[in-house]
Amino acid sequence: MRRPPVLPGVRGGARRGGGGEPPRQGPRRRGRRGPGGTGREHGKPGPVTAVRRVLLPSPRSFCAGVERAIEIVERLLELHGPPVYVRNQIVHNAHVVADLEARGAVFVSELDEVPERALVVFSAHGVAPAVETEARRRGLDAVDATCPLVAKVHAEAKRAADAGDTVVLIGHEGHEEVVGTLGVAPGRTVLVSSAAEAAALRVDDEERVTYLSQTTLSVSEVEDIAAALRSRFPRIRGQGAEDICYATSNRQAAVAAVVGEADLVLVVGSANSSNSNRLVELAAARGVAAHLVEDAGAVDPAWLEGAAVVAVTAGASAPPQLVDEVVAAIAAAGPVEVVERPVAEETQEFLLPQRLRGA
Ligand code: SF4
Repeated sequence: MRRPPVLPGVRGGARRGGGGEPPRQGPRRRGRRGPGGTGREHGKPGPVTAVRRVLLPSPRSFCAGVERAIEIVERLLELHGPPVYVRNQIVHNAHVVADLEARGAVFVSELDEVPERALVVFSAHGVAPAVETEARRRGLDAVDATCPLVAKVHAEAKRAADAGDTVVLIGHEGHEEVVGTLGVAPGRTVLVSSAAEAAALRVDDEERVTYLSQTTLSVSEVEDIAAALRSRFPRIRGQGAEDICYATSNRQAAVAAVVGEADLVLVVGSANSSNSNRLVELAAARGVAAHLVEDAGAVDPAWLEGAAVVAVTAGASAPPQLVDEVVAAIAAAGPVEVVERPVAEETQEFLLPQRLRGA
């Protein structure tokens, strides 16, 4: 019997998530949490005079959409053996991509790099319908790892465009998710990236406008742009920052809860990870030194000088063990007290594609 839907989860105070599918059955294969425990001691013996506090806001690290996408590639590798082609990075994290590459995944930018009738996975960021059409035309065996929360935005875009609305997508030009969503109704969708662009926007019919957003933006940025759109088009339809996914908003809320105590914020994530960059911006906007780090090797010891309290988090595509390694790198510079700072518990899970359930 299927369990009832588990909505994204926020027990303990942070924001809601989007809709989504019912929970995926079966055991979770990958831990979501980094180092835990309050007051846990790391460090090395030596002449250190003060214990540095390391705050670990949570939620952090993998979200349900990223776990699902990685699991899809892993299961296909197990079932079919390599190569499994993946169009674009399955998620925006260099370590995840390197790990899957070592196991036989082959990452390509375009479908014409995939041999005819081969297996290809669409990444968590989603693809335009034209890509799916091209895959069918070439006889590819396509498996869709698009996050269900991105697919939900695609469905909203199609519904609005079919109803005759101009769709205004709030997003960052060139991001893969934005490219895919723009492709849902390419003749009827316009992209805006700032409140100034929203205020200057012209459309055919100002009575028929709907706005949506990329799922991984800053909540406050989207609210500002949405306010500018509402001011420009008083009858516009849209739901504020509701398209921002639960994982993005929860990670931002978690950083916001600790940033006032921190001298330094380190965000584990890759340079092309949108939600990770938004966490850095959030901390920097509050006047706190903040850095995006790919992994522990990117931590500059000079950043730690004078930083008595360091907050360490990770974007939704960064593996939790990378956070452990960053904490260990901080501990190598002197003793630390590690303190978990949860603001919400996430319970969201997503079903695998039908062909992989129980496989
Ligand atoms: S960050 Fe949000 S939209 Fe992206 S994969 Fe995770 S849950 Fe889905």
